[in-house]
Amino acid sequence: MENQAAQCIVCNEPKPRGITIFGQFICDRCEQEIVNTEVSDERYRFFIERMKRIWLAALS
Ligand SMILES: [Zn+2]
Repeated sequence: MENQAAQCIVCNEPKPRGITIFGQFICDRCEQEIVNTEVSDERYRFFIERMKRIWLAALS
């Protein structure tokens, strides 16, 4: 069976599993991290910055 890996836009690593939003791939691990990150967490800002790129890419 062929394992097709797509590059995650959050961690920049090729991962076989994840979700695609507006043609942008986010691996399942990063998706879970975003979901489980507190708003007060420093990483949340990082994730939001990454997510912004998705929205901007989707709108352009
Ligand atoms: Zn990832």
